[in-house]
Amino acid sequence: APATLKARPGNNITVAVRVRPPTRRESAAYGSVVKVHPPDSLVFDGVEADRAGVPAHVRGAARNKAYTFDAVFGDNTGTAEVFAMTLPLLDDVLAGVNACVFAYGATGAGKTYTMAGTPSEPGVMVRMVEHLLQRMAVADEAYELSISYLEIYNEKIFDLLVPSSGPLPLRADGKGGVTVAGMSSHNPRTIDQVMQLLDHGNANRTQAPTDVNATSSRSHALFEITVTSPRHVGKMTLIDLAGSERASKTNNRGVRLREGAKINRSLLALGGCIRALCDGSSHVPFRNSKLTRMLADSLGGSSRTVVLACVAPTASSYEDTFNTLHYCERMK
Ligand code: ADP
Ligand code: MG
Repeated sequence: APATLKARPGNNITVAVRVRPPTRRESAAYGSVVKVHPPDSLVFDGVEADRAGVPAHVRGAARNKAYTFDAVFGDNTGTAEVFAMTLPLLDDVLAGVNACVFAYGATGAGKTYTMAGTPSEPGVMVRMVEHLLQRMAVADEAYELSISYLEIYNEKIFDLLVPSSGPLPLRADGKGGVTVAGMSSHNPRTIDQVMQLLDHGNANRTQAPTDVNATSSRSHALFEITVTSPRHVGKMTLIDLAGSERASKTNNRGVRLREGAKINRSLLALGGCIRALCDGSSHVPFRNSKLTRMLADSLGGSSRTVVLACVAPTASSYEDTFNTLHYCERMK
C-alpha cells in the first residue's frame, strides 16, 4: 500500500527511509544487512552482518535493531512512490505556506538519485515542478512559478545556475526570513527545461575527491521553487544535503577535514533546529549555520517538512546507515 502522511498534531515532520539497491559490485561482495519490512519498518540483520564480517565493535549497537518511521521504502520502490510522501506540501505551497524536503544520508546512499534523479527516473525536484505546473494550469488563480538553485559550500553560498557570480551574501528580508542577494531566478515552462536547469546546476556543484568516493558531494544543494499568486507567495525548498559521513572515515586531512567539520556543523545545526521544533521549544537555534538561517521561514509553524533518509543496504555502509537512522529517529 502506498505510504500516507500521518496526522501528527504539533509535529509537521515526516520521516521516510529509502534503502537503495546494492550495486552489482556490492551484491557480489556482501549480503544486505538492512531488511525492509513494508510499509514502515526495517531491521539490521545480525546474521547477515556476521556473515559479511562487520567488526564486532561496529555491529554491537545496531545488532537486530528495528526501526519504525513514517515510511520505509525498499530497493524495488521507484521515486514516484517516494515522491508521494511530499504531495501534501504541494497544496501548502499553492496556498502560500512554505515547506521543505531534505535528502539526508552518507555519500553514495542515493540522495542525488532521489532528489535530482536521471532522465529515466526523474527525481523529487523535477516531479515537484511537474505537478505544480499541472496544478497551476487548471487553477482559477494566476500563479507564477520561479526557481533558483544554489549550493552552500564551506558556509558560502553560490548560485549553481550562474556560478560566476561568486559567493553571495544573505540579507534579512524584513519578514523574518532571509534572501540571497544577487541570486538568479528562472521560469521553466516545461519539464525538459527543468531538467536542463538541474543538469546545468549539478555540473556546477563543488565536488572534491575523498577516499570514500571520488565524486563525493561536500555541499548542500538547495532547489527553491517559489509560487506567486495575486494573494500570496509560497516557497518550497528541496535540499540535497552534503554527505553525512564522519570525517574520520573519509580519512581526510587539512582542508578536506575542515570542510567535513563545517558540513557536520550545519547538519548538527539542522538536527538541533528540528529537535527544538519537535520538542515544542520556544527557542529554535536557526542562527547556527547558513543552512538553518535560510530555512528559518520554512521550518516550524504551519510549515511541513519531509525528510527522506537515504541508506545503502550493504555491510560496508553499516556504520553510515546506523548513524543516518539514529539522526533521523530523533526527529520523530
Ligand atoms: P549520493 O547523492 O547520496 O552521494 P547517489 O544518488 O549519487 O548518492 O547514488 C549513488 C549511486 O547509486 C548512483 O550511481 C545512483 O545512480 C545509484 N542509486 C542510488 N539510489 C538508487 C536507487 N534507488 N535505485 C537505483 N540506483 C540508485
Ligand atoms: Mg549526491
